[in-house]
Amino acid sequence: MNLSLISEKLGIPEWRLRGAIKRHSVQVLGYRGREVLVFRKDVAGVERGTVVFGDEVVRGYPKIKRALLLSAALRSWKAEQVAVEEKLNGYNVRAALVDSRVVGVTRGGYVCPYTTSKLREARECRRLLEDNPELMLCGEAVGTSNPYVVHEYPEAGEFGFFVFDVRHRDTNEPLSIPEKRRLLEEYGVQGVPLLGVFRREEAADRVLEIAQRLGAEGREGVVLKDWEMVEEPLKYTPSQTNLSDLRHAFAYPYDYGRDFLFSRIIREAYIAVEREMKGEELSDAAAALGRSILLPMVESIRRVMKGEVLGESYELEFRSEEELLEMLEFLRRQGVSVQVEVLEEGGRRVRLKKLRHASTDRIRAVLRSGT
Ligand code: ATP
Ligand code: MG
Repeated sequence: MNLSLISEKLGIPEWRLRGAIKRHSVQVLGYRGREVLVFRKDVAGVERGTVVFGDEVVRGYPKIKRALLLSAALRSWKAEQVAVEEKLNGYNVRAALVDSRVVGVTRGGYVCPYTTSKLREARECRRLLEDNPELMLCGEAVGTSNPYVVHEYPEAGEFGFFVFDVRHRDTNEPLSIPEKRRLLEEYGVQGVPLLGVFRREEAADRVLEIAQRLGAEGREGVVLKDWEMVEEPLKYTPSQTNLSDLRHAFAYPYDYGRDFLFSRIIREAYIAVEREMKGEELSDAAAALGRSILLPMVESIRRVMKGEVLGESYELEFRSEEELLEMLEFLRRQGVSVQVEVLEEGGRRVRLKKLRHASTDRIRAVLRSGT
């Protein structure tokens, strides 16, 4: 690989890149006969999830800061206008051309075979990228048929891809919101909904209202962005989202990190304060938080008592058995343990159960020993 060319493209010193490879912060892999670099950590300002195919760079999607108290977070916002985009609940995918073909790269920097195959069915993304090969489409893959995050969106059906940022793949420089919207519209590529644009002073109140409405509709939340995309964006989620994350995570309490669980409990406290909850409203919120923690754990313990192995199921459709095998190999390499149930002859429709061994084993041990 031409590391000097790659470091130049990434704008980092070559010795930093070599050092990172030696420390395994950057992994060297193969993809379709090419050497590939995957950034497993940030290196000299180059984001985790960055991937380099030969010498074709796809930069990692940057972290988005979370607003816990909207009013306070927006006080340090410098831009006058706040654009409110919907935050869709799926998984982050960057679509870009590699060897002149569309690939779908996960947040961590791996080409997901399933997502890639789905993206290749959409002609619009391909045309946009063929005309603008220096760009990548950063979007959320959502719907009911994927092996990562199942969430029903009436507008997406089984699989939908909604673009939220268009960025230069070498530098990660984003297009402004109006430029992005114009380009997506020109090619007929779906973008995430823009829910409103507000003056900074009124934004916190409007966003609280919007978030509450989204929460009631079972939708995840919002991302606040500067129209010019200069200011750092902020994400915000309503209570319902935090509680549904907790319900999911506490069903597998030993598989999720404590930070994941704790951070979501903390968010509820700030929401209660910002919304000035008192009396009955506050005690209802407390009960709802408690339910989202206790009930899933009790249910999981009872499942293990009955001899079940904990896990979540995903129904997927593949175009061929070869594609299924490729996806299973991909998941295996990611360290995911799955059980496969074929729902249709030829292995095209399958149910994958991701097994949660850590939680199953530890609960089993407590049930056996009592300690
Ligand atoms: P982060 O590293 O950003 O904290 P996370 O895994 O904790 O990531 P989330 O809490 O889901 O992620 O929030 C950020 C993610 O939200 C983005 O990586 C992206 O996949 C998703 N997202 C959905 N809608 C949007 C949107 N409109 N704009 C930006 N990101 C969005
Ligand atoms: Mg997400």
